[in-house]
Amino acid sequence: MRLTNVLRLFLFLPLLFVVSRTIAQELTNENSDSLIGPHVQLRSTWKGNIKASKTLSILLLAGHADSQGISGSGTAGEAVGLLGAEPMDPLITDELYWNLKVCKEVARLGKINGLNITFYDPGVRKIIDEKDPKTNWTNGFYHAMNGGYSLEIHFDAYGEYGYGPGLIPALTLNLNTIDESLARNFGRYPILFRGGLGSPRRQIRILEIGKLEGKLEQKLRDKRTSDSTINLISLRIVNSILEGVGSETISN
Ligand SMILES: [Zn+2]
Repeated sequence: MRLTNVLRLFLFLPLLFVVSRTIAQELTNENSDSLIGPHVQLRSTWKGNIKASKTLSILLLAGHADSQGISGSGTAGEAVGLLGAEPMDPLITDELYWNLKVCKEVARLGKINGLNITFYDPGVRKIIDEKDPKTNWTNGFYHAMNGGYSLEIHFDAYGEYGYGPGLIPALTLNLNTIDESLARNFGRYPILFRGGLGSPRRQIRILEIGKLEGKLEQKLRDKRTSDSTINLISLRIVNSILEGVGSETISN
């Protein structure tokens, strides 16, 4: 190989790397766009303007992790609720089953990409007293009161009961750039959605990933695509947070 060709190759390789990385990022977004479905279509005007720090302590919670077998246990999903499929785990709703998987993957991806993020699982699946120190609400509330960011992961109800992907912000005027980025990438629920839900009243953000139905649910349930679907959704969440704290996004 002539010297000029070697030189060209050296100049070209980094460019190829940058281009392929950008394409991979776009493909990731495109795939997860069609997976999560149309964003929530409710009128909402809030903005998250306060700059979130790269070191902000983020606590992830799996929606309904402590309320199985009582009201507020989460959606059964279209497959179980409408089409007669067996639940993924007979002891918990399918929503919680997938919430737990996404939380673990978001925490894993977030940690290796420099986020100060942990996942809290109460372990006990049925806690009647909401003030019990083990509940999501108690832990999420105290984490937020101590200056942290509490984010609860959910899938929305199927059919006419769900609204679609989006962030339900906390009931506060102090919404930050992570809130803004999650809302841009998933959708923006009004600040007083349903008059103010239990979690947002306790300063815990709710992220609805998408309605547990159709293609999204089929890809989660299909053993061949389940792990990659969890990874793709988690990547979208982690990238939204990275964007929100002003860090570079990742492609896998
Ligand atoms: Zn839920």
